Amino acid sequence: MDDVRVFVFFIIILLLGTCSASAPNFILLFADDLGFGDLGCYGHPSSLTPNLDRLAAGGLRFTDFYCTSPVCSPSRASLLTGRYQTRSGIYPGVLYPGSIGGLPLNETTIAEVLKPLGYATAAMGKWHLGVGANGMFLPTNQGFDQYLGIPYSHDMGPCWNLTCFPPDVKCFGLCDLATVTVPLVFNEVIKQQPVDFLDLERAYSDFATNFISSSAMKKQPFFLYYPSHHTHYPQYAGPGAAGRSLRGPFGDALLEFDNTIGNLLATLEKTGVINNTLIFFTADNGPELMRMSRGGNAGSLKCGKGTTYDGGMREPAIAYWPGTIRPGVTRELASTLDILPTIVSLAGAKLPLVMLDGVDMTEMLVNKGKSKRETMMFYPTNPSEKYGLFALRLGKYKAHFYTQGATHSATVPDQDCPASAVLKAHDPPLIFDLEADPSEHYPLPVLKKPDLQALLEKIKKVKEQFEGSMVFGESQISKGEDPNLEPCCNPDCNPKPGCCRC
Ligand code: MG
Repeated sequence: MDDVRVFVFFIIILLLGTCSASAPNFILLFADDLGFGDLGCYGHPSSLTPNLDRLAAGGLRFTDFYCTSPVCSPSRASLLTGRYQTRSGIYPGVLYPGSIGGLPLNETTIAEVLKPLGYATAAMGKWHLGVGANGMFLPTNQGFDQYLGIPYSHDMGPCWNLTCFPPDVKCFGLCDLATVTVPLVFNEVIKQQPVDFLDLERAYSDFATNFISSSAMKKQPFFLYYPSHHTHYPQYAGPGAAGRSLRGPFGDALLEFDNTIGNLLATLEKTGVINNTLIFFTADNGPELMRMSRGGNAGSLKCGKGTTYDGGMREPAIAYWPGTIRPGVTRELASTLDILPTIVSLAGAKLPLVMLDGVDMTEMLVNKGKSKRETMMFYPTNPSEKYGLFALRLGKYKAHFYTQGATHSATVPDQDCPASAVLKAHDPPLIFDLEADPSEHYPLPVLKKPDLQALLEKIKKVKEQFEGSMVFGESQISKGEDPNLEPCCNPDCNPKPGCCRC
């Protein structure tokens, strides 16, 4: 009898061991055009984001986290591949509804590294890595089992149907009138055109709930990628958030995104998988300051979207995993590039056999360890081999070899931010100590202080080494556009684009 008890005891221990070692789930939340100063947990006084605040309070909050581009498509390419956008060819600028190119299918996405391990994968929201002929660049062809969303920016179409709640609120913005109305795509099929923005968040929440619940029921590990549209111009919010924040339309949009995060957390709790799920939150690029109070806020950082100053590329970031990641703040250097190698490491997957720019953050996340990242490279929206890097960060120092303002960063008093600040070369580079001067206001007197010469030499060497390793991929965005590729639910109709409604 005793032997039987011992046997049963060991079987239970074995089963428990198997359960605790089960592959973790991953949820990747990606905000759009959200600045370093936009969240309450990063110091914004009137943003209302109770669920993001909960993630920040119970997780690891980053102070020095960077995306790779000050605009959407290239930043997303790097997030999903762990490679600078120059390698994958997602430059210059962004993709459009009729773009011929997209994220090359031979690039390996996070979803594709997880698929061989049996993960269920889904994406919902703003894809913006191409549609192409017959939807060849949509998420379902890049490792995701399912997709629900608008495959590009929601201002890339007439946006008269936005922010119309309650009905007496004036609609805001006209957006791109010469393009097809914005579609809602399920996998590769247009479900609705134009999309109903007031009901969109409910559709996303239902999609995510079904995906998480069915994966949990099957005991299948999952990866959910939710790049949200919300905080990008023109902001919108449905009945659950419109008029409910203190911050006007931007705050309402952010609140609606936050509500969805709350629904995701509730579903994770209900299905019992919250302690086996890493949630990572960050954003694609800095605030679009030209929209004034409807743009985001870079906090103490300089300029915003479209520039290689920190306001354009340093982002809020939070890693949340109850029981595994201890709550706190990390000042270590990290990037969207590092998410793929970290997920690979945590899941026990295989790294893609390509030149990766990301490093594994696991030690930082689970043991409060040091970052393996020592540098961060800054390419402008239109990178070229001729100019190379615009800036680089080495430890606490950032060196600018070129500076340039951007239309997206107009309207703020700083004259370095708008497009009138034309391209300027700096030799020696402008060097800032970002710990002493996070706003990049006061360049160090490199030529006057001999002790800074060693730093300057090291920066030049790092630049040379990195640029020596950079092979520019064929530009996908320069392939141009074909209006016939714009998603149309009624493909043979006439005259386009107005007849594309279903
Ligand atoms: Mg963006």
